[in-house]
Amino acid sequence: MIPAATRYARASDLDHALELLAEPDARAIAGGQSLIPVMKLRIARPSLVVDISRLELGGVSERDGELHIGPLTTWDGLIEAAALRRPALAAIVECARGIGDLQVRNLGTIGGSVVHADPASDMPAVLLALGARLCLRSPNGERELAVADALVGPFTTSLGQQELVIDIVIPTPPTASGSAYASVEHPASGFALAGAAALVTPDGETVALTGVGATPFALAGDLADAEIYGDRFASAEYRRALAAVVTHRALSAARERAQEDA
Ligand SMILES: Cc1cc2nc3c(=O)[nH]c(=O)nc-3n(C[C@H](O)[C@H](O)[C@H](O)COP(=O)(O)OP(=O)(O)OC[C@H]3O[C@@H](n4cnc5c(N)ncnc54)[C@H](O)[C@@H]3O)c2cc1C
Repeated sequence: MIPAATRYARASDLDHALELLAEPDARAIAGGQSLIPVMKLRIARPSLVVDISRLELGGVSERDGELHIGPLTTWDGLIEAAALRRPALAAIVECARGIGDLQVRNLGTIGGSVVHADPASDMPAVLLALGARLCLRSPNGERELAVADALVGPFTTSLGQQELVIDIVIPTPPTASGSAYASVEHPASGFALAGAAALVTPDGETVALTGVGATPFALAGDLADAEIYGDRFASAEYRRALAAVVTHRALSAARERAQEDA
């Protein structure tokens, strides 16, 4: 389908982008890999599309014991990032490698993926397992928000209309840590029917799931007690069984990587 008519403006800098987003129905666009499809389906009909793709908000670096991922970093940028080449952060690269096709990985961004909040998207599970926070900027200033608090429902976040993700911050896991991501994908869409991200550190193990609930979520307690949903693609029972399989795979790989890192 063809999107409804809209206006387009390219933001010259962050302040300009925030100013443009003052229009109530304006929407930011980064790689367009999620916004354009929902505009084509006319699920989204922004009056103004604010292009933020040229802002300097990309790249991966580590400082003061924390990893900083710019929201405009593409999947390909994550795959290539030297700062992610360690067992503790392997889940990020492993997850990015499995997303979409070449075009999606060249254009789609990590920030766009989190804010699009697709309940079956892969990377939010990894960010949850790694305890990531979003650094947000609005005309009122900056604030930090845990990814878990940002994802409030299917395709819904707690971000304000005039709020942009300007950084994604992950506490660097200690030595002897490993992480991994495993999923079973729908054969047509490639999206996760069930995906699990695991982080194993000397202090404990964390698992986060995607594709099985209203939002990706960190597993608290036993999988048997988790609220798992079903739809026309897979029943709740089948998804629960898949979740157990991918959790096992992700945890096993993360434990092995933690040993490599010791
Ligand atoms: C063919 C295809 C296959 C795909 N396969 C997968 C897959 O296997 N797994 C998976 O997880 N995803 C998949 N995706 C989705 C895709 O990876 C992400 O949704 C995409 O990367 C989102 O990033 P973007 O830059 O394209 O976001 P955009 O489409 O530009 O924006 C998405 C949303 O985020 C908002 N936004 C963007 N950047 C910011 C920011 N910095 N601050 C605040 N709001 C922002 C926009 O306003 C919009 O609401 C696929 C997409 C396609 C088209």
